[in-house]
Amino acid sequence: MRKKIPFIILFMAACTALFPTSGQGDPRVEIYNLRPYTHPTFTRIAVDVGKLREYHADTLFGPDRIFIDIYQAKLNPILHNKVISVENGYVNQIRIGQKNPTTVRVVIDLNFEEIKRYNVFHLFDPFRIVIDIHPDYAVEGVKTATPPKPADPTAKGYSLARQLGLGVKRIVIDPGHGGKDPGCIGRKGTQEKSVVLDVALKLKEILEKETDLEVILTRESDIFIPLETRTVVANQKQADIFISIHANANPRKGYAGVTTFYLNFPSDPSVMETVARENATSTKNMSQMGEILGRIIREDKIKESTELAQRMQSQLIKHLSTQYQGVKDLGVKSGPFWVLIGGDMPSVLIEISHLSNSQEEGRLRTAGYRRDIALGIYQGIMDYIDSLGKG
Ligand SMILES: [Zn+2]
Repeated sequence: MRKKIPFIILFMAACTALFPTSGQGDPRVEIYNLRPYTHPTFTRIAVDVGKLREYHADTLFGPDRIFIDIYQAKLNPILHNKVISVENGYVNQIRIGQKNPTTVRVVIDLNFEEIKRYNVFHLFDPFRIVIDIHPDYAVEGVKTATPPKPADPTAKGYSLARQLGLGVKRIVIDPGHGGKDPGCIGRKGTQEKSVVLDVALKLKEILEKETDLEVILTRESDIFIPLETRTVVANQKQADIFISIHANANPRKGYAGVTTFYLNFPSDPSVMETVARENATSTKNMSQMGEILGRIIREDKIKESTELAQRMQSQLIKHLSTQYQGVKDLGVKSGPFWVLIGGDMPSVLIEISHLSNSQEEGRLRTAGYRRDIALGIYQGIMDYIDSLGKG
């Protein structure tokens, strides 16, 4: 269609873009910039979208490419069918075009044999989509005397991570809340933000002593970090696992126990109470979330996150039950938590106990219980890594 548009109309469109006084009522956002950067260890491509938009990323083979479709968007004419040559050995070029009247498509031509992984995520203010591509520098020289153990299938079969034999090297632990946001508060005044920070610090200490995994905390002190920023940290650090630690509250004082969540639409309506509390500081609303979730959630991430959640929950309950009476296993559940959305790795959120229950608040106030929680989570992480066959 574009071929038949006379030059004068194209020129007018360009003027409209330069002087954005018209175009009112057009729901499409205009994409005006695409920026590739080749860093020493990876390539980052940022697409300036300007306003929150749904998008969908996927791969195609022969020739190899990653594409990102951005909905309700149009291209600024200066970007029409633009091709940016990269040629760094693993990314060949980047193309952008108007796929149909409401969809802009970005295509990255590359060679999958030369890359280790890629992450697609977004940042806010202004809204932009970021694609990080990490080359496969197979130079670490890790040789084991015993042949590697093949991965166990997840409950839903082999996910992509297992088929590729991807291991775990780096873990991001996210102590919930912090700073101006105390989280929930028990009747004795115990604040969720302090309890979960201490559990996270203890977990980091155990992991660093017992394993050679790299452990990164989203916060190490009492500071406020927006929910959406937390998984951005995990993506930037190329983390393999993301674990968010929280304590729960329930209007029924007698209600107690431990739950592990993974990201998906809720399986159980009662979950929405916990979701609303944990999402409270987000500036985004629930309808935006549904839109975004539907577009960006990947089946593969759900499979691995479910697996991680199940192993975490069962190890944590197993460990606590050897030390304490009447530990309640509330099971693994799914819910739409903002803090789990942006991450491109298996991600879970653990509600370690209820601060609204006086017995559990009493336990959470002791360093011994917090250490036992950290030990149980540690065992869950180890169990998951072992199941990947790359421990
Ligand atoms: Zn919380």
